[in-house]
Amino acid sequence: MRIAPSNMTNRREFLKRTVSTGIAAAIFRPVAGASEAAGVNALPGHAGIARTVLGPLDASKLGFTLTHEHIADGPDVLNRWPKSWGGRAEFVAKSIDKLKVVRAAGVSTIVDLTTYDVGRDIRFLEEVSRKSGLNMVACTGQRFFPPKSRDVSMPSRTITGLAELFIKEIEQGIDGTTIKAGVIKIGIITKDLTALEEIGLRASARAGKATGVPIRTHTAAAHRAGESHAVILEDEGVNPARVSFDHSDDSGDMDYFLGLVRRGYSLGMDHVHRGISPDFKPSFERRAECIKLLVDAGFADKIFLSTDSEFGGSLLPEETKEWRETIDPPDGMLFNTRKLIPYLKQIGVSDHNIHTITVENPRYFFSLS
Ligand SMILES: [Zn+2]
Repeated sequence: MRIAPSNMTNRREFLKRTVSTGIAAAIFRPVAGASEAAGVNALPGHAGIARTVLGPLDASKLGFTLTHEHIADGPDVLNRWPKSWGGRAEFVAKSIDKLKVVRAAGVSTIVDLTTYDVGRDIRFLEEVSRKSGLNMVACTGQRFFPPKSRDVSMPSRTITGLAELFIKEIEQGIDGTTIKAGVIKIGIITKDLTALEEIGLRASARAGKATGVPIRTHTAAAHRAGESHAVILEDEGVNPARVSFDHSDDSGDMDYFLGLVRRGYSLGMDHVHRGISPDFKPSFERRAECIKLLVDAGFADKIFLSTDSEFGGSLLPEETKEWRETIDPPDGMLFNTRKLIPYLKQIGVSDHNIHTITVENPRYFFSLS
């Protein structure tokens, strides 16, 4: 599936020639482990560099990465249930303890897709990253639409206005800090976009193109929503290789998956734990099987694994356990390392492909382009 270019000039010209067709995105990727030889890290600008809350990082140091999580809304939970902790300091300490366990289990980087409209606290993310030893990538973007209560929303309800906001968070910093976003997250509820969702998606496309950061969308996969998102993204001239449709495993439809990966898009498989509950379809086994079938079809380089955790909720006290477990898988952010990956290996996914999915794909995706 991958073509290693002989040199960078060729690569860039090749991309320029073919990107509008989506072909380059579908087939161009440096072979795993060959990026230095291919000159990826020598590209002018920021290629090979990921943007974390603690500053730029050589993307080869991202390591095992969870690509769709929610840590930054932790303080939002603290604000809603203040009596459960002694205060912010105690909450932060508890968060760090929990994140250290995740780090010790082999997770190296967490990509946080909590946007400003759902309680993103960038200082919290920075502090827990620094003290837990986990790399964190913060996002700009919006969940579903700009909330009316925020000052930022009214002048931003145009494609240009929102794109400017996103670019500002990517290039200057978030909420008055110099902490920069390394990814754009856009939430779209259903297959048929509302007018505001379309504004958000087009704004994310323009901000992504202007800055080189990738885009991840909340996608209603069961309704094949990625297909309608793709129409808009392609109308904006976005390179599909810079886009991941997250929550894709909520569909069990290989025809839908293969259509998107052949066009060059990636699929975030981050709800696999939900399939354990009879309330959610498809089943855990079917979600895992689709990952295996995609790997077998040659698309290991188009898959991401994560757990879409609600970290703050997972810290709620013991007495809320029953409710808490409805939002947090039993192993939390370690579900993939403890359950899913061993199962994938059991059904025949190789260590090499697991490495591609969990380490190499994030390395290329989160490198600024
Ligand atoms: Zn999410």
